[in-house]
Amino acid sequence: MATFQLIKLPYAADALAPVISAETIGFHHGKHLAGYVNNLNNLLPGSGLEDKSLVEIIATSEGAIFNNAGQILNHNLYFEALKPPTENNVPTGNIAKAIDGQFGSFENFKKEFSQKAATLFGSGWAWLSSDKTGKLLITQEPNAATTIGKGLKPLLTFDVWEHAYYLDYQNRRADYIAGLWSIINWNVVEIRYNA
Ligand code: MN
Repeated sequence: MATFQLIKLPYAADALAPVISAETIGFHHGKHLAGYVNNLNNLLPGSGLEDKSLVEIIATSEGAIFNNAGQILNHNLYFEALKPPTENNVPTGNIAKAIDGQFGSFENFKKEFSQKAATLFGSGWAWLSSDKTGKLLITQEPNAATTIGKGLKPLLTFDVWEHAYYLDYQNRRADYIAGLWSIINWNVVEIRYNA
């Protein structure tokens, strides 16, 4: 039977400061994500989905199982594409070419993505995904939804649930979003895009 594990972060808890504090990482990774992992592991026995991968579970489930499986995948994609802050943090390679080709410039892309993340009502995720032709799409997905259900490949996501930013930014979601651009690991995003 599959037992899902909490991912280890590829950086120290305080490595994303001041954009995301160690306290937020402690709750977000250590409590929220750990909670989704525990919930899913408790829900799977007897569900008929015991031997499925996370993506298979997301594609074939609903309700509590879907919500917890989706939240695990979404958080793994989010946390694994972050890194310590740097100035002038921009994409390179194929993903940079695709962004420039489709949005005109990285600045235009940032503006559109930030606006989608800022205006998502309630809890959810802003996503950059690619379709089978390599075309990029920016979407808002509510609650635990990913873009896998739309037949897309998820590349980059901003978690805009309040638990992702409230300790550091309270109601200032736009400030959290602005900060995220300096801690995106574009190498990881490009590997996903090229895969
Ligand atoms: Mn979250």
